[in-house]
Amino acid sequence: MPKSKVSVGVLALQGAFLEHENHLQNAIRQSRPTSSLGEKDIKVVEVRTPEQLASVDALILPGGESTSISLIAERTGLLEPLRKFVRVSKKPVWGTCAGLILLSDEASKAKKGGQELIGGLHVRCQRNHFGRQTESFMCNLDMPFIGANDDPFSAVFIRAPIVEKIITERSSASGPIEDVVRAPILDGDSAEWTPVEVIASLAESEGTEAGDIVAVRQGNIFGTSFHPELTPDVRLHEWWLQECVLPALK
Ligand code: GLN
Repeated sequence: MPKSKVSVGVLALQGAFLEHENHLQNAIRQSRPTSSLGEKDIKVVEVRTPEQLASVDALILPGGESTSISLIAERTGLLEPLRKFVRVSKKPVWGTCAGLILLSDEASKAKKGGQELIGGLHVRCQRNHFGRQTESFMCNLDMPFIGANDDPFSAVFIRAPIVEKIITERSSASGPIEDVVRAPILDGDSAEWTPVEVIASLAESEGTEAGDIVAVRQGNIFGTSFHPELTPDVRLHEWWLQECVLPALK
């Protein structure tokens, strides 16, 4: 029987999209024998146009510069289709670093007038929480669901955001706050409020604030502050394909 086809997109407007493509390819190639990834014909494609977006089953939004990505998306007519992809069609998406910022309903320390959000993830993230590029760091994260207990997952943080607040009801997302930009309300936004699950937080020993939230999942949306595509470890990509992408296919 021919394998069923799955098309996984990587938003390729700016930033670390090639690294994600390589990681997805490696995760597919190296997937464990027990994994269901081998039963599918998974294709990885770059997404730069609304037509390409319409052809994929899932999408990664890479790290880079969220202001540039949103500007390019707007100029190329991709911003509204991206909002619909995430919030109305509810396709599986994963935002890393700048990608997490774009998927957040709110962002603080954001560039007013220069920053559009896709939204969908009911959190407020804070941009550049750890400071400048020179304050980049790596640390081990506790993520038991990918087997990171025995073999720690090393996460790379580069001008990374954190999730500073989980938004629990729509009314708390109203009224202007200085420094905060918001994704617009969309026709077709679901009234149902799926809970945001905290997937990983920083530990005290890392020289950062204990408990800083660096990975979250809400329904079809997964977001990480760090860059899992910049180390050779493909476990998180494999987990995302297996646990978030394949189960969502009709
Ligand atoms: N600070 C960047 C932004 O606001 C994100 C950095 C990154 O993706 N490494 O978009």
